[in-house]
Amino acid sequence: MLKKGSKLYSILTGSCPKCHEESMYKNTNPYALSQLFKMHERCSHCGTKYKIEPSFFYGSMYVSYGVGIAFAVAAFVISYLFLATSLKTAFIAIVGTLVVFMPVIIRLSRNIWINFFIKYDSSAAKSKAVLEHEMK
Ligand SMILES: [Zn+2]
Repeated sequence: MLKKGSKLYSILTGSCPKCHEESMYKNTNPYALSQLFKMHERCSHCGTKYKIEPSFFYGSMYVSYGVGIAFAVAAFVISYLFLATSLKTAFIAIVGTLVVFMPVIIRLSRNIWINFFIKYDSSAAKSKAVLEHEMK
């Protein structure tokens, strides 16, 4: 289901939105909190600059609002409807989920945000060697 070339792949793996060949992040684990926001300047595979303009990723905060709500709704449905907890417990589950998944939510939001602006380009995905070969 998760194939290179779909936006979902880039969003879920945090890979370069243009070539999907490598991670945008210096540390792919979002729970390495000190490196949560550390991103490569450019994709070493296709050369795409991730920070399209200064403070580009501030915009991802709008996305994180929506992503956070999605996580909150999921936590509510699981605890209140599936586990039949009280409303109070469901509320605690929501808060707990948002705290625990915060690094994931932040990363997902950035990935979604950059995928609004940069499209997958299959020619960028080819290795440099292949491209040089084709130009001859
Ligand atoms: Zn790339």
